[in-house]
Amino acid sequence: MPLPAPVMTTVLPSKDVFGIGTPPATSGTIVLLSCREVPLSAPTPTVILMRANKYAGRCAECDVTVEIAAGQLIGLPGSWRTICVACSPTPPPRGDHPGWHLTPLASLDFETTGVDPLIDRVLSYALLDDRGHDFSGLVNPGVPIPPASAAVHGLTAEALAGAPAPVDALAEVIAWVQDLIERGVGLVVFNAAYDLTMLRAEATRWGLAQPDWDRLFVVDPYVIDWGIERGGLGPRRLTDVAAYYGVALDNAHDATADARAAREIAYEIGRRHPTVAAGDLESLMLRQVIWFAGRAEDWNHYARRVGRPLDDPAGWPLAAQDLTDVRIA
Ligand SMILES: [Zn+2]
Repeated sequence: MPLPAPVMTTVLPSKDVFGIGTPPATSGTIVLLSCREVPLSAPTPTVILMRANKYAGRCAECDVTVEIAAGQLIGLPGSWRTICVACSPTPPPRGDHPGWHLTPLASLDFETTGVDPLIDRVLSYALLDDRGHDFSGLVNPGVPIPPASAAVHGLTAEALAGAPAPVDALAEVIAWVQDLIERGVGLVVFNAAYDLTMLRAEATRWGLAQPDWDRLFVVDPYVIDWGIERGGLGPRRLTDVAAYYGVALDNAHDATADARAAREIAYEIGRRHPTVAAGDLESLMLRQVIWFAGRAEDWNHYARRVGRPLDDPAGWPLAAQDLTDVRIA
């Protein structure tokens, strides 16, 4: 049985994409909230949490046994319900329609020191090109790595001590991106507003020439997923969307594993959504700009009411340029 369809939004750009619900316009609307967010203290909206089940149980819909982490836990704190995979929402079947998903795409992912693309730094990168070549590398950032960040991806100062300096490593990344631009190859980046804004900030920080950003075709499964689902399926981090589309992601927060999963999600979205797949990468860019703006407006509607920071609806695939915010050292 499909889950209820709430309005879901997230703050961007930030590395980890956590969902927080918009207050309901009418009573009875269900709002999903990531387990990592602090629940709202007001009596309304009704806050529904959704996460992998930590304990074995029985599906509330069909009564089958659900092993640990094999299903989802949804409900109100104190009154959880376990739902099996079969009763969880599923994507439409694959089709053989034409679309941008039939062209080879490249993919990029960074592991970083934190969640602010203007301040935080690239620690590792994965560049998967459109011709079957994968490149990856480490960067010695020259700044401390917060323990909370190292705990996510395992990259510590010791591990990066012998790695190239940012100016050298990032010059290679930028040259790789520029080559895609010259060849008109689409670049998959999950939550591009984060990774690409960080790459632009790093280029500024280290005095590197910027890629020709205006000519880059970006395919952002995070934004496209919002355009399709409108946040109706709960938190949609990379792991959530990968699970939904049946894409393997065994080593999350490894840049190469994340980049592979993001690209496979992009292909699956194209295979399963003919209207999204239709058209070329240029038209997909325009649709993603509109979807991102819609997601930001949705978030801002909520954020204004509760006094949280507003998103820039025009902030995709790069956040608004404000070089004064880029910290040099
Ligand atoms: Zn079930």
